[in-house]
Amino acid sequence: MKLGSAKYISMNGQVVPYDQGHVHVMSPAFRYGAVAFEGIRFYWSEKRQDMLVFRLREHLERMMVTMKLMRFDTDLTVERMEQATLDLIRRNELRETGHIRLFAYVDGNGDQWSNGPIGWCVTTLPMPRRPMVSKGVKVGISSWQRISDNVMPPRAKVAANYNNGRMAGTQGKLDGYDNVLLLTNHGYISESPGSCFFMIRKGVPVTPAVTDSILESITRETVMQLLRESFGLQTVERNIDRTEVYCADEAFFCGSGQEVVPIVSVDHHPLGEGIGKITRALQDRYFVIVSGEADDHEEWLTPVYKG
Ligand code: PMP
Repeated sequence: MKLGSAKYISMNGQVVPYDQGHVHVMSPAFRYGAVAFEGIRFYWSEKRQDMLVFRLREHLERMMVTMKLMRFDTDLTVERMEQATLDLIRRNELRETGHIRLFAYVDGNGDQWSNGPIGWCVTTLPMPRRPMVSKGVKVGISSWQRISDNVMPPRAKVAANYNNGRMAGTQGKLDGYDNVLLLTNHGYISESPGSCFFMIRKGVPVTPAVTDSILESITRETVMQLLRESFGLQTVERNIDRTEVYCADEAFFCGSGQEVVPIVSVDHHPLGEGIGKITRALQDRYFVIVSGEADDHEEWLTPVYKG
């Protein structure tokens, strides 16, 4: 990601120069990681000569859930966040694939229990598709355990939670993996630090349940729907054992930023014959939809310039 390449940022509903995106070090946001956030992709459509935001509403609705769980005292609405996001893309005159980051945070200088004032901001920056989408990734099972609902709920997309993934991810890189899978406190497969996990076994897609310490991912929902509609495959949501993954015919990660990323090995066990057929077909379908080239799922796309 080319950080700092946008002209503007949106702070508390006002568009300001990018360099003015400051939060005070004494804010609970800085001191305790009291920050709710979302990561959303937008795509430039050559065909429509427009920018399309993918599943914007669903992301904003999840942001409302995170703020509720965090007991943020705010009158922020989906509509205000939507307006600020679309305005900012227009002001930055973006015409390439990119990424929106939306934050709401405990500002001021209150104590650990303060629920406000709530500041909020939006960034829109270019972010091309990542090479791992075509190459696939080598994955290791982390010795770090995934946070759980009664510790730090993974369902809430809160910045502080991401230190769990950071411990696992940095260790995984040192150990020579591209990415890691974390296990739940019950020893089942959970997710990676920034994406959800699917495997295909004997033609059946399987993914951890929403009670397996995962973020309730919007891409996971999208993928389940596409597998059903386009390939007649019903995904089973259930606990997954570690060694089931070693035996998978195919596996992939999915998330808004990462999109659909094939997994080629887990703990050095190669999966199937390399990148699987279902994974490739699903990627093709996903990319056609997000870039506005499909005839269906218009409801998932928010046009920016011609909306
Ligand atoms: N899990 C975690 C921990 C994530 O950070 C993300 C990325 N937001 C995902 C899963 C995928 O979620 P989504 O499909 O909604 O982007």
